[in-house]
Amino acid sequence: MPALDATLQQKIAALEAKQRLRNPQTTARLAGARVLRAGQKYISFSCNDYLGLSHHPAVIAAAQHATERYGAGAGASRLITGGHPLYEALEATLCEYKQTEAACVFGSGYLANLGTITALVGRGDAVIADKLVHACILDAIQLSGAKLLRFAHNDAADCARLLEKHRDEFNNCLVVTETIFSMDGDIAPLAELRALCNAHDAWLMTDDAHGIGFPAAAEADIQMGTLSKAVGAYGGYVCGSAMLIRYLKSAARSLMFTTGLPPATLAAADMALSIIMEEPERGAVAILRARQFARQMGLPAAKSPIVPLIIGEEGEALALAKRLELAGFLVTAIRPPTVPEGTSRLRFAFSSEHEEGDVTNLIKAIENARTGT
Ligand SMILES: *Cc1c(COP(=O)(O)O)cnc(C)c1O
Repeated sequence: MPALDATLQQKIAALEAKQRLRNPQTTARLAGARVLRAGQKYISFSCNDYLGLSHHPAVIAAAQHATERYGAGAGASRLITGGHPLYEALEATLCEYKQTEAACVFGSGYLANLGTITALVGRGDAVIADKLVHACILDAIQLSGAKLLRFAHNDAADCARLLEKHRDEFNNCLVVTETIFSMDGDIAPLAELRALCNAHDAWLMTDDAHGIGFPAAAEADIQMGTLSKAVGAYGGYVCGSAMLIRYLKSAARSLMFTTGLPPATLAAADMALSIIMEEPERGAVAILRARQFARQMGLPAAKSPIVPLIIGEEGEALALAKRLELAGFLVTAIRPPTVPEGTSRLRFAFSSEHEEGDVTNLIKAIENARTGT
């Protein structure tokens, strides 16, 4: 066996021993929150396409039209010739939606966080982040060289404690949180964090990857988000002041040194955002389904379309997901390192495409899976 493979075999065995080896299944997504896996159709509760927009006829038509007119790929970085007019249109729509002066579209949400955080902070600066922020924010902070301090999840008082104790040790300070948390579905105390940032000369950045299409306060200096989830397309963005965006376009390396998004993706995202603005009831239906589920399961009231069912042990979460799959329901078991040790869970993502009956049937299947019938 070649030396590389021999080493990797050991690493894989270590992952396997901890039940951490991922084995993604080939899955085709269909309309109406349905998916096709190994010839079998399932109802999916594991997609972030909360508003069903990835399959909306007008979104698909926009992508088709853009491809026919402009081709399949961007051909270069946005700084060279990849800055298609469709970018300008999409960024104008984002400004309208977020009510900000300016916007910048990145290749993905991951790239938006990476480029933005590394452009804004570095050695001698601090980032104060919620304990549960997404992995790509942590990657970005590490890459930036800034000092990472973490406050207890959604605990503004703990953030205040860190600012009071440490703010003076650093040059610039960035406070980062998600708006709606991806794995728990709960909402950050944005008004409190805004007040703290004002009092301590810190900047506030929000990651709204799971918030778009749902009400959220525009308290942040830097409003990051993704076009890959509720918007149903692909890409990331940052909205904020004209000065912020002007700077990022010349300083965010993940924007400068990567090829622009395909025309179809830009056109699809733009159309989907227009639909979100015209049809706010889509978000309301997704939350309604989540509330129905949480209420009937005896869980805390849902604040977003994401409802976690905490199981605890990894193997147990995986086994329950497997039993639900056999019953025709696709739900992802989320385990470390995505979530903290001992909080493995099933993460249910509800969509405006789910019918009330889908939720009722899901609950019956969970009851059966748990009682072993
Ligand atoms: C999904 C996600 C991202 C990354 O967005 P992509 O467009 O998928 O790269 C960033 N932050 C949070 C909180 C996310 O859930």
